[in-house]
Amino acid sequence: MAFAPRIREELTQICGSKWVKDDEVTLYTYRSDGLTLYTKLPMGIVYPANSEELVRVVKVLYREKLTFLARGAGTGLSGGAVPQEDTVIIEMDRLKEIHDIDYINRTITVGPGVVNLRISEKVRPNGYHFVPDPSSQKACTIGGNVAENSGGPHTLKYGVTVNHVLGMEVVLPDGELIQVGGDFHNQPGPDLLGLINGSEGTFGIVTKVVCRLTPNPEKAVTLLGIFDSVRCACDAVSAVIRSGTVPAALELIDKTVIYAVEQTLKPGFPQDAEAVLIVELEDLIDGIGNDAAKVEELLMQNGAQKVERAKDDAERARIWRARKESFGAIGRISPSYYVQDGVIPRSKLPEVIEQVEAIGKKYNLTVANVFHAGDGNLHPLILYNYKDADEVERTHHAGEEILKVCLSCGGALSGEHGIGLEKRKLMTDLYSENDLENMNWVRECFNPESLLNPSKAIPTPGRCGESKRPVHISDDIAASKMVARKSGVAV
Ligand SMILES: Cc1cc2nc3c(=O)[nH]c(=O)nc-3n(C[C@H](O)[C@H](O)[C@H](O)COP(=O)(O)OP(=O)(O)OC[C@H]3O[C@@H](n4cnc5c(N)ncnc54)[C@H](O)[C@@H]3O)c2cc1C
Repeated sequence: MAFAPRIREELTQICGSKWVKDDEVTLYTYRSDGLTLYTKLPMGIVYPANSEELVRVVKVLYREKLTFLARGAGTGLSGGAVPQEDTVIIEMDRLKEIHDIDYINRTITVGPGVVNLRISEKVRPNGYHFVPDPSSQKACTIGGNVAENSGGPHTLKYGVTVNHVLGMEVVLPDGELIQVGGDFHNQPGPDLLGLINGSEGTFGIVTKVVCRLTPNPEKAVTLLGIFDSVRCACDAVSAVIRSGTVPAALELIDKTVIYAVEQTLKPGFPQDAEAVLIVELEDLIDGIGNDAAKVEELLMQNGAQKVERAKDDAERARIWRARKESFGAIGRISPSYYVQDGVIPRSKLPEVIEQVEAIGKKYNLTVANVFHAGDGNLHPLILYNYKDADEVERTHHAGEEILKVCLSCGGALSGEHGIGLEKRKLMTDLYSENDLENMNWVRECFNPESLLNPSKAIPTPGRCGESKRPVHISDDIAASKMVARKSGVAV
């Protein structure tokens, strides 16, 4: 796999020879993303320095009818940045300029390669932050966040990426540069901004993002509820939400993950607990004391052995570091893990978690849990050894079964990691053929030849690749689930 000499020459003229690569080692590095179960070597990688170079690169690839995709940090967990046969990867790493910060209108405009955490670091001294905080925020990019409509622990109260992006510059697959949204909220016309958010890099390549800045809370209180049963911890989640108090974050960690993080980060979680709940409340100093006391009481009423309150910012940071780096800590106890991303109605948490455990037993695999409980967004981590082919196969089956359980209780296939390559075939279990046809038709308006990130997110049932006329949007429950996911509502 390599560029044809003529194409390499043309791309080199645009980006410079250092920024066009197809050597064996580089191709190998780009063969997968965070979901290492799927791999394929790309044709080559191009590293444009700015929007202008990117447009020129896209025009060459479009003219040559080569498939291509944008890649941010490659932390995606559904195979979105995994190439197909002969796909060219366009790496966003050099587009990481901070173009503008406007504190009066509370916006920051950045290049797609800017790492999520850098945005909050940049504006925090002035009292602001960027809300979406995926646990991967030290590495993942804003371009990837937009493509996946990413969430994070603190999106329970404030919403996901689509709720914090006001405008974008986008390169369409034929090289046309368009603007969607703007510098302020509620631009007239159809919501193309909302449509591109969450389109998993299949509608266009994002080259600039206007992000909304949110004032830092006056006060944050972090509670750690300690439980001797996962079921009680799940019941406590529903009790807190039912009470009307909306925590900024409500995360559950089970005993396997507690053990892993205690081996590495040592946050001081009790090793004999079956689960801990991290509940963070954010508010004005005056109001927060009552809310915290109310949540402490609810956790105790629902079976917590104890509720601890972080004494200071250092202790809060220790708890959050353990939560956000918990996937990585799994490396201490297993060579690999496969993370699921099903989303279910919160009220079903206790029974679904029990079914997940039963699936683990059926396939003789350990399944650990650390997830955004307040959103009903599960992340069962199936631990496996990538060198054991039988275990890999059992892992695939267990993952699929877990997602089918989520669907059977009224849930959906992804809360935040996207469908990608991984869950395409399960989309037919969630949506009717008409729904999928309509989604394909919308995608074709942006990406008519499917050259940009082909075979991702939406399957094409019963199609031979030709464009069909749109069918009517059915108003069934599946369509409303899609709308709910786009608006960040847990369904
Ligand atoms: C340890 C860990 C924890 C995680 N925690 C969370 C979490 O809490 N919440 C969450 O939502 N996700 C989480 N993720 C998943 C992942 O980090 C997010 O999906 C993230 O947004 C991906 O960003 P990226 O820059 O790595 O994108 P990539 O993986 O490089 O790409 C992902 C998709 O975005 C597309 N894309 C990338 N850049 C662009 C662009 N400029 N224009 C158009 N399309 C583009 C790609 O083509 C691909 O389809 C986690 C991942 C890991 C490994």
